[in-house]
Amino acid sequence: MIEAFFKLKKYRKYHNLICLVSIHFLMISCTNKEFVPAIVLTFDDDHVESWYENRSVFNKYNAKVTFFITRPHKLSNTQIDMLLQLQAEGHEIACHTLNHFNAINFIDSIGIEGYLKQEVDSCLKVLKSQGFNIYSFAYPFGSTNQELIDSLKTRFSFQRGSIYNKTNILYRKKRPLSEWNNIYITSGNQFYSQAMGIDEIYKNSMTLIKPGIDRCKKDSIALLLYAHEIVVNTQKNYRIDINKLDSILSYADEIGVKFLRCQDIH
Ligand SMILES: [Zn+2]
Repeated sequence: MIEAFFKLKKYRKYHNLICLVSIHFLMISCTNKEFVPAIVLTFDDDHVESWYENRSVFNKYNAKVTFFITRPHKLSNTQIDMLLQLQAEGHEIACHTLNHFNAINFIDSIGIEGYLKQEVDSCLKVLKSQGFNIYSFAYPFGSTNQELIDSLKTRFSFQRGSIYNKTNILYRKKRPLSEWNNIYITSGNQFYSQAMGIDEIYKNSMTLIKPGIDRCKKDSIALLLYAHEIVVNTQKNYRIDINKLDSILSYADEIGVKFLRCQDIH
């Protein structure tokens, strides 16, 4: 009887020890989550034909990307079919609000609940009724604040802002992407991250982008990028030249950096 008691006590001691060790390792694995070296390529607004017609550039590298849709209620049936085909091929279709307003300006006038109802929930409803599985959200103009980010956590597994700011002097100095910590997804920001623009207007040449991709590999983290329309031979505006896009995909593929969708981050 006494022996059995000691055995039980001994067992309890070890049991508690095992529990403590398990919790400790669980905490380490939660706080030091290791990401695969990856690029998260995203495309915004409603340039459906250009994405659909140029999707062979993604297939060439087996890259899956995310398309953030705004004004979904204005899409034609043909555009909806193209997006459904992109979704069926493994790409992600995501939410970019109903009318593409600047969130902070909008909240100032009608409040956060009004914004959520009019710009977010209504957009979600339309996209879901069109047959899309929605996991992620991108803020028009990258405009957001912490309260809004917290409010959207229950609706989306990932939210994307942007680092682009025409008035930012540091931005105009054109630093390599590797120097922008906020455009990398790590264990501390897997619910919200900013993204770097790679359209022609942002003037991020391959010379600036390549060190950014190298850092993915070196630090085993994910780089978040965004663009708009995919065009052949363009050097202006919110468009990315298909040859530049091919160069980014090709270089990442060459050095073993994967491609993730926003829904893959969490
Ligand atoms: Zn947009």
